[in-house]
Amino acid sequence: MTKKIIEEEGVERPLVAHRITELAHAIMHHKKAYYSGHPEISDAAYDALEDELRSMSPDHPVLEIVGAGTLPFAAAGAVARKVEHRTPMLSLDKTYNLADLHHWVGGRPVMGTLKVDGNSLSIVYEGGRLVLAKTRGNGRVGEDVTEKAVWISDIPRTLTEGMDAEVRGEIYCTEGNFLRLADEMVQLGLDRPTNPRNIVAGLLGRKAHFELARYFSFFAFDFIPANGKSPGFKTEVEKFKWLGKVGFSLPHPKRLSDPAEIEGYLDYVKALIAEDEIGLDGAVFSYDDLALHDEMGLTAHHPRYKMSFKWQGQTAVSVIKEISWATSRLGIVTPVAVIAPVYLSGASITNITLHNAAHVKAYNLKPGDRIEIVRSGEVIPKFLGVVEPAAGDYRWPENCPECGSLLVSDSIRLKCPNETACPAQRLGAILNWIRCAEIDDLNEKRLLPLMDSGLVKSMADLYRLQEKDFLIIPQTREKMASKLCKNIQSSKDLPLASFLNGLGIEGAGRTTWEKLLEHFHGLDGVLKATADEIGKIEGFAEKSAAQVVDGLTARRGWIKDLLEAGVKPFQADAVPKEGVLSGLQFVITGALSVPRAEIEDAIKMAGGKLSASVSRNTYAVVTEEPDSGSTKMKKARELGVKIWSERQLRSAIADKANIEGGNNL
Ligand SMILES: [Zn+2]
Repeated sequence: MTKKIIEEEGVERPLVAHRITELAHAIMHHKKAYYSGHPEISDAAYDALEDELRSMSPDHPVLEIVGAGTLPFAAAGAVARKVEHRTPMLSLDKTYNLADLHHWVGGRPVMGTLKVDGNSLSIVYEGGRLVLAKTRGNGRVGEDVTEKAVWISDIPRTLTEGMDAEVRGEIYCTEGNFLRLADEMVQLGLDRPTNPRNIVAGLLGRKAHFELARYFSFFAFDFIPANGKSPGFKTEVEKFKWLGKVGFSLPHPKRLSDPAEIEGYLDYVKALIAEDEIGLDGAVFSYDDLALHDEMGLTAHHPRYKMSFKWQGQTAVSVIKEISWATSRLGIVTPVAVIAPVYLSGASITNITLHNAAHVKAYNLKPGDRIEIVRSGEVIPKFLGVVEPAAGDYRWPENCPECGSLLVSDSIRLKCPNETACPAQRLGAILNWIRCAEIDDLNEKRLLPLMDSGLVKSMADLYRLQEKDFLIIPQTREKMASKLCKNIQSSKDLPLASFLNGLGIEGAGRTTWEKLLEHFHGLDGVLKATADEIGKIEGFAEKSAAQVVDGLTARRGWIKDLLEAGVKPFQADAVPKEGVLSGLQFVITGALSVPRAEIEDAIKMAGGKLSASVSRNTYAVVTEEPDSGSTKMKKARELGVKIWSERQLRSAIADKANIEGGNNL
């Protein structure tokens, strides 16, 4: 089962990263136990751990540590070691005023980055290896937090060979990871953390549960060379490019050369603040020309070549009167706190979004809680934290507020399962149909009045509309009405795969339908197929087979309705059976330079077949990450399957000889 999960796209890499940190931690633990004379596992079991880590990350530093004496990590359970900063970690000068910011910039090109509300961290590399991670502390002396930092997947363990250097940045916790972390802490019997900002400092100061730091992220923003092997950068642009290349995540750096670009960047930051996935409190600007940094130097408190810009955030405390829930057009049920009105940055605030059901659970929110909210600039007001909780526990609604269906939940969201009849979800379903049937000009704004007037209750109703019906849409005259009507009518002839895709069945995309239509020879066959039969097709997981069958069953009425309204789906020409890649099977994995569908199409058009997993029948694996430690790549190497880059695939398609010459089937 684990294997199946790992092979599902998208989750593959985080899981591998997680396993790597898990292994590194276990190896460090057993190394210490061994060298302190109390081994806990056999030598063979220990070797197996090292072998597994080596197969996933051959250069991992823990593999090269010999003996306990040279461990670059503080002893477990010891009181945090104080460590000095060779170069002080200063705070930043700040301004709330745009005119002051422009004055400071003075027309020079600057680098803009996000200002993350987290904890500063300095990572020391010696000989190219991570040897120490330390907090900012008082700026001169910080604390050794290496054992926690090695759990953060954004922090590479090695730089260029032989290099001594220090990389500085900010540790933070995203909203999504905070919710997962809060759940895990409660399961471990620890106190529920109060918010993503406090939890970082809280966990860095802990003497146990270092593995919880795997929920943290890290943005690198500075590089301090300490020996001649370090690159000599001339600009911030070069510096960030290099940091990205060696594997650090970056705080969205952007070079800005005039006031309009600076203000554009601030708008971008504001939009991110509203999203609330990363806790941000502004932006940082730094002169791009690093020669200026040396020239201007530091005051006792801050560098003169960097400036942070923050919005004067006003906070207020209010009381939750009630939590109201609404169903979105995708069926997600989201909470809003109705609060006692407070006046904040020029507006009276009565509602605060609480994002999702997990948020309510993580903060144990309920009527009567006194909460703190913040509004910075024109950014929408946000919930900050609970000041004084009321008695009792949070409650999730049991039924959909729109249709009364019993709600279902995954770990984060509450969802109304009544996809086909819930009124809240009807709009989303019809919009999806419009997109899949490629009906031009009919956007949400034009669709809403048609739905509000009762003319459109289902996708089939679209085909019953007459020209005059469109005139009820505001600012719509005969010409547009006629165009909309024509666009809808001409979408009646559409490929079967688009028709099925337009039904909006979760877990099935266009390629899925193409595959099913080919396998079951058309619509009737697909409608009759059982989950068992679908599950037997290569590349189909049990779960998605069941989703397809349940989804189709629930939509029988829609299908009948659409066909009766005159929609005539046709079986598109099958993929050419003969081509350069005929008879060959391919697996695509990892990140690509173009959308995945483009590579799939290129293979199919050349007659090749696609498979979701690597086997002896696989001809080649197409990837841009040939060194990846993913399950698919491991298997490919084990079986000696060819590994092709996108370029190799394209040149093979262009050049038949290449294939025949290299065919090892
Ligand atoms: Zn509902």
